[in-house]
Amino acid sequence: MSSVGYGYSAAPDLIVPLVGFRQWRIADGGLASVYDGARWADGSLTARCDRGHSPDEVPAKECSCGVYAYYDPCPRTASAATPDLVGGAVVVWGRIEAHIYGMRGGRARVVALELPLSHGRKRRAVIDAADLLGVPAVPHRSLKAVALEHGEVLAPALRPKKTLTRAANVWSRNGPV
Ligand SMILES: [Zn+2]
Repeated sequence: MSSVGYGYSAAPDLIVPLVGFRQWRIADGGLASVYDGARWADGSLTARCDRGHSPDEVPAKECSCGVYAYYDPCPRTASAATPDLVGGAVVVWGRIEAHIYGMRGGRARVVALELPLSHGRKRRAVIDAADLLGVPAVPHRSLKAVALEHGEVLAPALRPKKTLTRAANVWSRNGPV
């Protein structure tokens, strides 16, 4: 059972995992969070809070803790500029804090990686990382459809129109971690 902040507590329609999209760095053949370098060792991550929230409190409303994911796939070119950035899809579950463009969740698991535009070494690295995790590496145009085999998008009606919390400010400043 998930719960959603901003007044949508323990919504009964959130029993299934939520689909989200984000980026990682490929490091040592695996995935690491872009912002803090946390390793997604087996393709999943349980969020931890460095301000003292316990695992079952994460993500806390007035905090920046949680695993970040956008509601929509990152732009096709978002990962193209660097040799080690890769986009992909996750399912998120546990506590959920909904923001305008994305959410923070307690736990997340990779369900697909996005093939880069370029061929060559980066493409090979993405395919190898996907193989290691047992997830598909798919073209950008297929990413959302593949993700939806594993969960549902958070209904737009449950997304806040405006977020005024400090966490929301962190979100807009740093983007997904
Ligand atoms: Zn926290």
